[in-house]
Amino acid sequence: MGVVKVTVSNFHLSAPSWTPEQGKVYLQKMQALALKPSIVQLRLDAEQERQLCSAIAPRIAQINQKLASCLLQCQHCFYPQQRLSIQIFAAPFAQHLNIDGLCNLNTDPITILIDVGRIIPQHWLSAIAHEYTHAQVGIAGHHQAFRETLTHLCLGLGLTPPPHDLPESELQNWPPCQPTPDPLAFWLGTLTD
Ligand SMILES: [Zn+2]
Repeated sequence: MGVVKVTVSNFHLSAPSWTPEQGKVYLQKMQALALKPSIVQLRLDAEQERQLCSAIAPRIAQINQKLASCLLQCQHCFYPQQRLSIQIFAAPFAQHLNIDGLCNLNTDPITILIDVGRIIPQHWLSAIAHEYTHAQVGIAGHHQAFRETLTHLCLGLGLTPPPHDLPESELQNWPPCQPTPDPLAFWLGTLTD
C-alpha cells in the first residue's frame, strides 16, 4: 500500500534560467539519491566536468519530464492503491559499473535513477519498467516475485515479457535495452543527430 502520487520536483519543471552551477548542484543531488554517491561519479577532468554541467543544465528538466511520463505509464499498470510514492531522475553513472538504472528503496519517496546516456531513447521505458518492478517488489534481487511483477508490467506496457524459461540470472537484463555507442557523448552534449 503506498501513497498515490508521483513526486514532481523542481527538476521536472522547465527552468529557462538554468546555469552550469545548477547542473553541478543537480549532480550532487543525484549522488545523494544514489545507493552510494560514487555511483554518480564520472571521474572527469575539470574541463569535462564544466562541459557536462553546462550541457545538462538546459536539458535536464525536459529529460526528467520524459522519464516521469514513462513512470506514470508503469503506475497505471497497477490499481491506485498499489501505486507507489516514487520519484525518477536521469543521472550519469560511473562507466565501469556498467549499469543502466537503479532503484533506491531507502529514500522516501523511493528513487529511480536512469542513465539515459547509456540506452537509446526508445528503450528508456524498458529500463524504467525494470527498476519500477524492483520498487513494486520492495526487496532487491531478481527472483520469482520479480519475474511475476515484471511480466505483469511488460504485458501492461506492451513490452515483451520475460520468456518462461529465462533463467533468473538473465532477469537482470530484462527487458533488453539497446545500448548507445558512447554514453558520455550524451552527457557532454557532443551527440550529433
Ligand atoms: Zn534489476
